[in-house]
Amino acid sequence: MRLLDPFSVVLMAALMCAVMSLVLFGARRSFPAEMRGIGYWSAALAVQVFSVICFALRGTLPDIAVLPLANVLFVIGNGLSVIGLQRFYGVDPGWKMLGGAAAFSLAGMVYYLQVAPDYAARVFWMALPMTLLNGTLLYLVLRHGRRKLATWFFGTLIAVNTVLMAVRGVMAITHGEAMVDVARPGLFQSFYLAATALQPALLSVGFLMVANERLRRILERRSASDPLTGVLNRRGFGDAYAREVARMARMRQRSRSLALLSVDLDFFKKINDRFGHAEGDRVLVSVAQMIGSALRESDVLARFGGEEFIVLLPDTDLKRALAVALRVQRLLRDASAGDLPSCTASIGVAVQTDADEELDALLCRADEALYRAKENGRDRIETWRAAA
Ligand code: GH3
Ligand code: MG
Ligand code: MG
Repeated sequence: MRLLDPFSVVLMAALMCAVMSLVLFGARRSFPAEMRGIGYWSAALAVQVFSVICFALRGTLPDIAVLPLANVLFVIGNGLSVIGLQRFYGVDPGWKMLGGAAAFSLAGMVYYLQVAPDYAARVFWMALPMTLLNGTLLYLVLRHGRRKLATWFFGTLIAVNTVLMAVRGVMAITHGEAMVDVARPGLFQSFYLAATALQPALLSVGFLMVANERLRRILERRSASDPLTGVLNRRGFGDAYAREVARMARMRQRSRSLALLSVDLDFFKKINDRFGHAEGDRVLVSVAQMIGSALRESDVLARFGGEEFIVLLPDTDLKRALAVALRVQRLLRDASAGDLPSCTASIGVAVQTDADEELDALLCRADEALYRAKENGRDRIETWRAAA
């Protein structure tokens, strides 16, 4: 029973690979630079197109002229996907494995075509590097992939593919040539042919889904953080604050309170004027790190722009908030010895006990305290007090 016409399937596979290669090539430019590996996937598909073209020339040209090349290109194409995924996950690319797999398949193909012609042995031989490469893809996804739907989809495709490669290799040995020759009719042969033809394009769709998931996270993080210092921006802080207040409300404990520190560097304009704006920027980055080092894991640090930092301290009363403010103040003073220009900060502290208070009102109170710290001579900590 012939289910599929091999030539048509192979032609369609080549077209799909070519289209996906172009899609990925285009996508590469629209993804942020920190997203690596997409170009390798595009190249992997292009190489597989050439592999398919070589396979299609079988019959027109002698086997020895096209088959080794076709198979080596197929291995290189799969190897480039591995490199791409390694780069994507920030792992050192395994060029040696790719080179080894290509050389291994070339040697086997030439040997079992010229020296001891044996179709089943060739299929088995090729199954080894292919299973290794696809197994490596699977390992990378399991080891580094985030447990998201896209990753499950991608991982499942790779797993099916790996199993198929291995099963075909084993069947070549146990069942012989007739069972694994895709040019012959048969259910397994047709299934394998269809799966192999679909595999590169399907896998790259899976990869694109995983890449899109990563893109979504990168954009989310970017929209919530300050590009200079990497701490949260006003928007990210607003979200963190809303989560904290919701948690406070859930707890329904009367003793719950949170504190806000408004930290403004003193005479920062002078630092810019004396050392230049770039040096001022470096000071801001280092100040953000210093403040961060004075905080707990659950505390939230943000820069709303300029040289003003805001710190949210969950589950914190006035006493502890003052202790944290003092720690920040000391850290900044002690850092004066470093190679960066020294600077001090004025800090306003406000405590919230009412879960219904708006963030703006709380920020206002912290700023009022900060204003007083500035008025009273700077490099000081002041606490918000209700007007008498
Ligand atoms: P004080 O707060 O003690 O009253 O004095 P100040 O000089 O720090 O006050 P002001 O708020 O008037 O000036 C803040 C300066 O911070 C103005 C600006 O030059 C500088 N600044 C704001 N944003 C940045 C930035 O992103 N990078 C650098 N290098 N400087 C910035
Ligand atoms: Mg200032
Ligand atoms: Mg300011």
